[in-house]
Amino acid sequence: MDNHSRIKILEESLCNQIAAGEVVERPASVVKELLENSIDAGADEIIVELESGGSRLIRVSDNGQGMNRQDVFLCLERHSTSKIRKAEDLFALTTLGFRGEALASIASVSRFRLRSCAADDGLGQEILVEGGTVRKAEEVGMARGTLVEARNLFFNLPARRKFLRREQTELGHCADVVTKQALSHPAISFRLRHNGRSILELRREKGLAERVAALLGRSLLSEMQVLEINDEAAGIGLHGLLGQPTLNRSASSHIYTFINGRYIRDRVVQHSIMDGYRHLLMKGRFPVVVLFLEIAPDKVDVNVHPTKHEVRFREQAMVHDFIAASLQHQLKPAAWVNPVTQDLSAEHPHSASAPVSRNIAENQVQTPLIHEPFAPVYRSSVALENETAPAEVSFDGINCSSTTSGAAEVREQIAEQNRYFSNLRYLGQYRNSYLLCQDGDDLLLIDQHAAHERIGFESLKKSFARGEIEQQCLLFPEMLDLDFRSAQALTEHLEDLARLGFDVEPFGGKSFALKAVPQLLAAGDNARLIVDIALELEQTGSSGGLIDKLDAVLILMACHSVIRANQALDPREARALLEQLDRVDFKANCPHGRPVLQRLRLAEIERMFRRQ
Ligand code: ADP
Ligand code: MG
Repeated sequence: MDNHSRIKILEESLCNQIAAGEVVERPASVVKELLENSIDAGADEIIVELESGGSRLIRVSDNGQGMNRQDVFLCLERHSTSKIRKAEDLFALTTLGFRGEALASIASVSRFRLRSCAADDGLGQEILVEGGTVRKAEEVGMARGTLVEARNLFFNLPARRKFLRREQTELGHCADVVTKQALSHPAISFRLRHNGRSILELRREKGLAERVAALLGRSLLSEMQVLEINDEAAGIGLHGLLGQPTLNRSASSHIYTFINGRYIRDRVVQHSIMDGYRHLLMKGRFPVVVLFLEIAPDKVDVNVHPTKHEVRFREQAMVHDFIAASLQHQLKPAAWVNPVTQDLSAEHPHSASAPVSRNIAENQVQTPLIHEPFAPVYRSSVALENETAPAEVSFDGINCSSTTSGAAEVREQIAEQNRYFSNLRYLGQYRNSYLLCQDGDDLLLIDQHAAHERIGFESLKKSFARGEIEQQCLLFPEMLDLDFRSAQALTEHLEDLARLGFDVEPFGGKSFALKAVPQLLAAGDNARLIVDIALELEQTGSSGGLIDKLDAVLILMACHSVIRANQALDPREARALLEQLDRVDFKANCPHGRPVLQRLRLAEIERMFRRQ
């Protein structure tokens, strides 16, 4: 008989590795923990140095309060923290860290060095740890502050090291972490270096606006407004910067939300923001927002998961409605809002066909870009006209093997088939968004935006395939500022963009000058298109050329060149659109896959009226 207990208490170092599994996922998670510690230590200058996307080296140094000799040893013990003492403290947290397991975890999965000095005597303590085992400890001369180094992350856990992505991807995640901390701590200077090269240099700033300008681009700032709302009675407050609706993105990556100073990506908060922008953005578009929610610590549990950015609110509905209402309140009266009710037929100040350099901010105030002028659309239709010689009429849907029809008959059939939309009886436009047409006895509803998107997309694809995308130089280059990740993605694809007809020139740091654009898009808002393309590239991952991602980019281009919903078309314009539809393939759906056309059969209509 086996009398030994099968249950064993795990060894400390193994516990740490297990904990590390939760806390340390990739270099960016180490950067996050170390930055939080530096911030908690009251530093106002933090330097992050990385090598090979952080997998070779992560080093964070700060000028915070430091640790004395004793604490340098203690801080590596699991559950060692100076931030909470008793359970109640958990509900009144003002610091970013509190679990006391970050350093122990990081030290257990890397070659780790910690060096800290708490006094002004210039004498500090250094400790070297390898995979959780202390190798060396000695006194070193240093100024007050702390330096933490993690080399060869997961060197002792090859299975986890395998999961690290390529250098640029990991670097991108690290830069994200720095960006988020930098946004919530404008008074701290942050520097990020990679392989000896400076990536971010952020000096101490007076406030959020200056920090946003330094991080996301000054031009962006001119399209944002300050929000500051407090409800003392409810114990909740909101402040930050709201982008005007025209400053929108194709992904939610520019919605930065913080709860009590901590970056959080929460479903409820996200939803409430979209609610605040309801009716102001097109479907699938997201605002640019930097928002800080302040709420009594006992009304929110941030302790749900060690790294996931989820929270739990005690009064979820109250928080949701407070945010949504605050945003709506702020966005409603602004001069640039309310595109839905704007007089669409008004003369567009930028409809002149010669592209001019435009101050984005000034442009937005007068004309939300949701309403592209009709001029560029019409121009694109002219381009289409030239390119569609009868010889290339598509054969789809025609049974060419049919032996019963003579050649002339087939041609006729094709011709008829390809005049399907032109032959429809156009009845009128419904809600400035749908064309009503009659096909025999059926009633057709055609989504004008979807239709035109498909037309633009197919035509772009054709001209691109033929290497015939015509370029138009801009009279004045348009300047654009991007954030780090987008700038990185764009820089990698400048040559590809040139093949698409864009001449984008790096202008130092995260700035670019847009000098020429594809002819088809000449009158659109190209700076914004480039921002969208960069975001698309960033999200589809940067491996492989733009050409692989061509469809996504062409869809974006098409989307920017076309008639929007909510645009009045006169019958002539409506018919021109129908005729263009006849000339493209895949006309049943827009390139996003939404249907272009819905059909109501006479029988269905009669049933509705009980006539059957
Ligand atoms: P936590 O931050 O949850 O307390 P950590 O493992 O991250 O746990 O850190 C443990 C302790 O080490 C902290 O509570 C703090 O007292 C000390 N410490 C860590 N980093 C620093 C730093 N950069 N400056 C000063 N003290 C630090
Ligand atoms: Mg910590």
